[in-house]
Amino acid sequence: MPNRKLSFRVEFETVIGLEVHAQLKTRSKMFCGCKVSFGDEPNTSGCPVCLGLPGALPVLNRRAVEMAMRMGKAVDCTLASKSIFARKNYFYPDLPKGYQISQYEFPLCENGHVSIEVDGVQRDIRILRIHLEEDAGKLIHDQSEDSLFDVNRCGTPLIEIVSEPDIRSAQEAYSYLVSLKQILQYLDICDCIMEEGSLRCDANVSLRPKGETRLGTKTELKNMNTFRGVEKALESEVLRQKGILETGRAIEQQTFLWDPRNNRTVAMRSKEEAHDYRYFPDPDLVPLIVDSQWIDRVTGTLPELPADRKVRFMQTFDLSEEHAAVLVDTREVADYFEEVVRCCNDPKAAANWVMGETMRISKEKRIRINELKLTPARLGTLLGCIREGTVSARAAKKVVDEIEKQDRAPQELIDQMGLRQISDTGELQKIVDDIISKSPDEVRRYKDGEKKLRGYFVGQVMKATKGKGNPGEINKLIDQRLA
Ligand code: ADP
Ligand code: ZN
Ligand code: MG
Repeated sequence: MPNRKLSFRVEFETVIGLEVHAQLKTRSKMFCGCKVSFGDEPNTSGCPVCLGLPGALPVLNRRAVEMAMRMGKAVDCTLASKSIFARKNYFYPDLPKGYQISQYEFPLCENGHVSIEVDGVQRDIRILRIHLEEDAGKLIHDQSEDSLFDVNRCGTPLIEIVSEPDIRSAQEAYSYLVSLKQILQYLDICDCIMEEGSLRCDANVSLRPKGETRLGTKTELKNMNTFRGVEKALESEVLRQKGILETGRAIEQQTFLWDPRNNRTVAMRSKEEAHDYRYFPDPDLVPLIVDSQWIDRVTGTLPELPADRKVRFMQTFDLSEEHAAVLVDTREVADYFEEVVRCCNDPKAAANWVMGETMRISKEKRIRINELKLTPARLGTLLGCIREGTVSARAAKKVVDEIEKQDRAPQELIDQMGLRQISDTGELQKIVDDIISKSPDEVRRYKDGEKKLRGYFVGQVMKATKGKGNPGEINKLIDQRLA
């Protein structure tokens, strides 16, 4: 019987490694010319290769390889000059061939890393490998008494991104997924819609006493369909394992399904071992040879990645880290913001208005930022109008909504809506002079010390301009005149 009091004092460290499957945005499948399909009529995208009919031969999709290379380069992996496709053999009704083509001992990409941030602390998570593989088909269980098979997903190209067990908490796992998603989207190689399965994550987790270097027995969690789901599933599994270890029992190596409705894990099966799959090199496919010219060509097309872009935004535009992080969150927003800056040359204002108005409208209308009628050029022009005093910042917010409704240029709307400010100094000067000469009493009282009368003058001028005088300009002129 273990000494409970003693074992309670052991502090545990959480160890997590994630396996992320990302569906590549190719038009055709990994080893045949069939269209990659989502949401289409079942069994409309299939051929002898997809179905694994005898004699059908796979032909590798070059674009899929390039997308995997892009990801490899983006996370600093070494790209193998020679990698091998292997058959992973298992039986399941969604796998007509009886094996999945994957990469095993010789993956395309190895030894990279991704930087994550939790509570302001940055850490590097090492990437063990990124390999190419094909997806299986789909079983549909809820449309008849029998289960139905849809071939459309068979052969869809995937990359599997496998991390080292470097992640130390559920929050870090969440942050790692956010970083991966950002990179995949910047590279434009994956839609990253977890709900639709274009991004999937299996989480491996174990505990070990703090200071221990050997890994503990892990369990695997599947079936999470949001990043927050992954985080919650891990939190719950860490607690479960802790409970077992603290009472001196051992963890059983197992696979669990996450049940998001009840926020708990359900045991699925004890995990199979690699040797159960009988991996062997696929005799239908030659080794994949990637030479340095090809790598250079692909590397040359990489966009600036979010981490670099954030630093550049902070340095070039003098933005806070927090604001820069919001603006580089997606490539779309970052591009939009930079275009606004190009049009108005005022990064601070651009940042505030993009994070405020642009994001608000896009959220309210549930449309993507580059589908807004409030284009970067229009927002840039509007910010220019504010700076020149043509319109007040307050009125400009109304203009923003109207641009979205009427799809018209800001200057036209400022006039149409009667929001043009009078900022012309000459014009305002005349009005100020007029008011002051008509109010000798008030001027005397003001000069005798009744300073609050300044508000009266401003009010009179505003009234005379029907509220369209530029308040900053009016205040300045009145102060000059009364000095
Ligand atoms: P398996 O053979 O079960 O697929 P792998 O060694 O291939 O396991 O690792 C799969 C994933 O699990 C990797 O992301 C790896 O970092 C992670 N992992 C491996 N061992 C552990 C462990 N003891 N605790 C947590 N994660 C682990
Ligand atoms: Zn096909
Ligand atoms: Mg494995």
